[in-house]
Amino acid sequence: MFTSQLNPQQRADALSSLATEEFDILIIGGGVNGVGAALDAVTRGLKVALVESQDFAAGTSSRSSKLIHGGLRYLEQYDFKLVREALRERELMVSTQCPHLVKPVSFLYPLTEKVKERTYVGAGLALYDALRGMKRALPSHKHLTGKTIAAISPSLRQDIITGAIRYFDAQVDDARHTMMIARTAARHGAVMATGVRVDDLIRNGKKVIGVVATDTTTNKKIKISAKSTIMCAGVWSDELHAQFGLTPGYTVAMSKGVHIVLPGDAIKSKDGIILKTPVSVLFLIPWADQWIVGTTDTPYDGDRTKPLATQEDVQYILDQANRVLDPQIKAEDIVGVFAGLRPLVANKTGSATTKLSREHTVDRPAPGFVSLAGGKYTTYRVMAKDAVDLAVLDLRRLVSDSVTDKLPLIGADGYFALVQQSEKIAEKYSVPEATITHLLNRYGSLIEEILGIIDADGSMSERLIPDLPYIKAEILHAVTHEGALSVEDVLLRRTRISFEDFYSGSEVAAEVADIIGAELGWGTKERSASVKSFLAVIDKEEEALLELVNS
Ligand SMILES: Cc1cc2nc3c(=O)[nH]c(=O)nc-3n(C[C@H](O)[C@H](O)[C@H](O)COP(=O)(O)OP(=O)(O)OC[C@H]3O[C@@H](n4cnc5c(N)ncnc54)[C@H](O)[C@@H]3O)c2cc1C
Repeated sequence: MFTSQLNPQQRADALSSLATEEFDILIIGGGVNGVGAALDAVTRGLKVALVESQDFAAGTSSRSSKLIHGGLRYLEQYDFKLVREALRERELMVSTQCPHLVKPVSFLYPLTEKVKERTYVGAGLALYDALRGMKRALPSHKHLTGKTIAAISPSLRQDIITGAIRYFDAQVDDARHTMMIARTAARHGAVMATGVRVDDLIRNGKKVIGVVATDTTTNKKIKISAKSTIMCAGVWSDELHAQFGLTPGYTVAMSKGVHIVLPGDAIKSKDGIILKTPVSVLFLIPWADQWIVGTTDTPYDGDRTKPLATQEDVQYILDQANRVLDPQIKAEDIVGVFAGLRPLVANKTGSATTKLSREHTVDRPAPGFVSLAGGKYTTYRVMAKDAVDLAVLDLRRLVSDSVTDKLPLIGADGYFALVQQSEKIAEKYSVPEATITHLLNRYGSLIEEILGIIDADGSMSERLIPDLPYIKAEILHAVTHEGALSVEDVLLRRTRISFEDFYSGSEVAAEVADIIGAELGWGTKERSASVKSFLAVIDKEEEALLELVNS
């Protein structure tokens, strides 16, 4: 009945629906919370639309540590409810909701002292395991001796590490996961449009009855009617509340978090590593054949759209990681850097409208308008449900409960069976089995969409860059099925080429523009404009990175 495909024709249809129909719920913002709210609302049987000013996950939701976790550090703050909730979501995602996207990852917690530290950390990890309840998709923690660690993680300094405890969490390509939730919402009938910025609210008396928006590709204004609007604007929340003349019960401060990306051989370890730092924790996370290391936590008040890493950020990460590493990691090893902004919610005292939990806030600063901010990526589904529960009060009718805990994302269906058939599929399409594995871990059973492209043109099974697993069919597919509208969308978010191989990203930008240009109806002018705009983003980051390496 509905299609999950997001492409130029679907976007044109969405723009026309936005201008002519009335929606039960309109969502502002296509980060994980916004797309989660769209999926939650549409699967309750409501008429739903979502508008995103840039691209899906263009804000914080493409720049996280990419961990689906309970958050070990919250145990130290005795926030058991929060940890239990996040662990429940983790188990759900790994087992049924999106096992094609969310994968278990093991971490070592290195110990430098033999008895006291092991007892303390061991008790914490036993509690972490216990809090996930009876349904257990991941193995329990395990104590390891110094000798075993030398074999698992030769890069850990043998002179100071006396032992370690191994525990499990999970990881995800956040931008891909967010886009897959968006596709799932579209599959159930939600009208989804990127490149649509909300500028103002439409009111009838005090009640918000819609928004005035701009199609950023044409600068055309659109009036969108909705009985209830939910804003999921992350670090843009304060700015938009002020622009809309709303006084919410909370404010959102920004904190910058930076990660560096290193080649696989920079750290010799079969497991990830978590380190306690003076202010928080540092993760050394395996990312396919590479490592992501971070993060920092510093107050920020600059440009929300493109936060950049500074030399101090990177030096802090190197210093903290090098406390336990031998050989040490160096600035010149770095192949990529990315920075994200945490939306940190602070409650305004005396506000009666705010329902604040320690991590996220759902507020209703005006009739017909709900806003949601804060929280973690891992618990997006719970936050989305909370926001929709509040927004439906404005519909003044009985609305069904959320069903997203029982709803697999698209691509999950049949994934485990396809994994067992990967050799056969590789043979049929004459591609290496490693390519099929790569595709299954990014598309699940939607792999057939990619294989269809290869069937039509065998050359689309070639890699775009020899050292990275992405094939040309994925670049085209990003536009025909995943809503990409620019070179930047493809290289920054549908694939992660721009941080996995910083320098090659700019080398293939023109080829990417050629592959996607035909689908997007581009001539030479539009192709070079999209390349130029991507290079402008990359050049700034490259400049910052080169400054670090050469300093
Ligand atoms: C460094 C870092 C590491 C993190 N690591 C983890 C982790 O490992 N695990 C975890 O669980 N969580 C993690 N988090 C937290 C997590 O990433 C965030 O909580 C989550 O991504 C926030 O999603 P969001 O949808 O609220 O915001 P965003 O993803 O920022 O989405 C807001 C969207 O609103 C859009 N928007 C803004 N203005 C308008 C407008 N006028 N009209 C239309 N759209 C608009 C923006 O373009 C943006 O796409 C991390 C965060 C950071 C910064």
